Amino acid sequence: MIYQPQRVFVDKDALAFGYCEKILKTLHPLKPIILSSSEALDAFVPSDISLSKGKQFLHLKNFKADAFKLCPGFTKDILCCNYYVLDLIENCPLECTYCILQAFLNKSVITFHVNVEELVETMIATIKSRPQQPFRIGTGEHSDSLALDHIFQVNPYLVDVFSGLDNATLELKTKTDLIGPLLGLDHRGKTVVSWSLNPSEIIRANELKTASLEDRLKAANRLEKDGYKIGFHFDPLIHYENWERGYSRTIDLMLEAVQPENIAWISLGTLRYIPSLKQIAEERFPRISIFSNEFVAAEDGKMRYIKPLRKTMLLRVSKWIQEKAPNIPLYLCMEKHAIWKQMCNNYPQTPEELESYLNSNL
Ligand code: SF4
Repeated sequence: MIYQPQRVFVDKDALAFGYCEKILKTLHPLKPIILSSSEALDAFVPSDISLSKGKQFLHLKNFKADAFKLCPGFTKDILCCNYYVLDLIENCPLECTYCILQAFLNKSVITFHVNVEELVETMIATIKSRPQQPFRIGTGEHSDSLALDHIFQVNPYLVDVFSGLDNATLELKTKTDLIGPLLGLDHRGKTVVSWSLNPSEIIRANELKTASLEDRLKAANRLEKDGYKIGFHFDPLIHYENWERGYSRTIDLMLEAVQPENIAWISLGTLRYIPSLKQIAEERFPRISIFSNEFVAAEDGKMRYIKPLRKTMLLRVSKWIQEKAPNIPLYLCMEKHAIWKQMCNNYPQTPEELESYLNSNL
């Protein structure tokens, strides 16, 4: 699905930025509505607008806070992978039934921070000030990294910036096959393009408006030919009747599409959600069954599958991958040391060890 907004709102102080001009040209003949400030958007977008309708509106903004942050999701019991995020986009045109953004963002419109170059300069300054620290940085925290680039045109710029940074790697995460803007770039191996994978039956029922499994893997194969390292995320792993057959088949298809030596990393994580998400998702997607399992509240307040099921899923999926491709760095997202220990004998003990393990196949 190629996203096109129905309306575009632009903050007055965003008009001066090159990205704003470029985006408005791309959206022509859609006429922008100029706002005196971001707050003025409320007059055009009612607070009770549906999430689906809100996504049809695009807001171009001059973002005044710091967009470069350490991924916030860790506690001392969880092995953190020191991941950084560069927040350029808020909200996503795709519709995953389990998407946390439905309960998390306080605006339903899609927002883009047009002062990209300023935000990136701040990021570069931090990276250069710590030359000994390897940084992995993603832009897919609050959106899909590729789904909107036919409008924002920011990824070629980011790939170019990272090609000149010795101690940093960019990760672009997606569920689309919109790889056109990445073809033919001089990435110098500093950009990893990652796909989130699930069995086709889960994609059809729960990852609406995304590319099919086959199309995601075709796109990954195409970028492998362009010399990019590819990442994969089995996150969220979703339990359903035929989950074992579904995930083992998906792993086979993944390894047929991309050579293990070109896979930078694979992450695993089971379905988890903040309690308020369930009602929102079930109202928006009445036919879903992903919340029908037994869930328990974890220490971080998120609902997770009961521990034996979580453990079974993580250990089986990791075993299937390790049997077929033992050298790909495999990591668990938001899981405790105890589960890591059962997955591999010599598991990384600290964020620094995990970081260097994840960089080992780059
Ligand atoms: S791709 Fe990610 S951000 Fe977009 S709807 Fe799905 S889970 Fe949410």
